[in-house]
Amino acid sequence: MSLINDCVFCKIIRSELPCVRLYEDDLVLAFLDIAPFNLGHSLVIPKQHHHSITTLPEDCQGRLMAVASKLAAATLRSLKADAFNLLLNNGSCAGQEVPHVHLHVIPRFLDDHPIFNPAKQQYKDQAQMQETADKIRTKLGE
Ligand code: AMP
Ligand code: ZN
Repeated sequence: MSLINDCVFCKIIRSELPCVRLYEDDLVLAFLDIAPFNLGHSLVIPKQHHHSITTLPEDCQGRLMAVASKLAAATLRSLKADAFNLLLNNGSCAGQEVPHVHLHVIPRFLDDHPIFNPAKQQYKDQAQMQETADKIRTKLGE
């Protein structure tokens, strides 16, 4: 982790690159995505440079979600959207292109095509599903 970084979002935070700002406070910045899934698609980012949400301090994680939630509500009301997606791609094979944590707030409309169309996986059986959940719970408890 470093406070100064050359990534595109750090440059936006330092006003070295332009953005259309929606909200800013001591921990986070929100602005419109430059290539939106739908008009009004925005991004909420922490001011600290972290590649992964897992290393972001908890107060920043909390603020990120709280601001995204408020932003989503405002997006629904102002754009008359029917729904929204909150999306966080974490890691390149999960679709993360900008290596600075960002939460997408994507307005959705009844006549939208689905954004996500991944090849779905299936559990072999209920036991495998339980086993998977147990592994996760164990790690959560550590
Ligand atoms: P991801 O694939 O989750 O890393 O998403 C990165 C997002 O950042 C994409 O939706 C891009 O359109 C958006 N993006 C990249 N550069 C900029 C920029 N300079 N201003 C606003 N949004 C950007
Ligand atoms: Zn950065």
